[in-house]
Amino acid sequence: MKGKIHSIDTFSTLDGPGIRTIVFMQGCPLRCKYCHNPDTWAVNSPNAQEYGVEELMEIILRNRPYYEASGGGVTFSGGEPLLQHRFIKEIFKHCRKENISTAYDSSLYISSRVVLSLVPFTNLVLADIKQVNNEKSRLLTGADNRLNIANLKLLNENKVPIWIRYVVLPGWTDAYEDLEKMALFIRDLSYVERVDLLPYHALGSHKWKMLGLEYQLHEVEPPAFNHLQELAQLVSSLSQCPVYVT
Ligand code: SF4
Repeated sequence: MKGKIHSIDTFSTLDGPGIRTIVFMQGCPLRCKYCHNPDTWAVNSPNAQEYGVEELMEIILRNRPYYEASGGGVTFSGGEPLLQHRFIKEIFKHCRKENISTAYDSSLYISSRVVLSLVPFTNLVLADIKQVNNEKSRLLTGADNRLNIANLKLLNENKVPIWIRYVVLPGWTDAYEDLEKMALFIRDLSYVERVDLLPYHALGSHKWKMLGLEYQLHEVEPPAFNHLQELAQLVSSLSQCPVYVT
């Protein structure tokens, strides 16, 4: 079995607790307007590298002392990593045997059967909420958010720890009513440990140009610091969850 991989970061502190190896998988079914990795969209990109399970485990195991010292582990990201869930499951099974903590970072716009299949081998899910308003989700990502919502409930029912990630994009995802609705939804998910509000930035826009794609957010400015603080306070007070602006 081979995984199609965009890139690997062997020393990250951004995607889960501690020092982690992050494996960016190739392929994504969404088309988020703010995406800064459109080069991960095509599963069969000629730039993807293929790795076997043992080959990737060898890389993951190299940093074991760092995982042990920092409470870290391995995180699969993307693109949408769960498009290659069978490969990830094999790696996670090996990680379990080696006592290495496992996480994936997903939009969860994917079949619930897939999410469920990974539950026994997953220590943490970094779960995006793109938009709780379904119509706005369609405009922002090209897809309906019902699977995202259903899968978050499913993970929670199965007692999988969850960190929520939400990109604050002015004019698209920063309406108070949407943040309120999201916070109230999160309040009912007892396995959500934290919420990260990620301010929009346009750093990936050059990749759209390189790929011949039209970037539609040139006019959108990153959110103001005070606005982010206000939103963080709103979500924190309604969800009763720690909220970070990261
Ligand atoms: S889910 Fe992530 S990788 Fe896929 S389009 Fe959205 S931002 Fe880009």
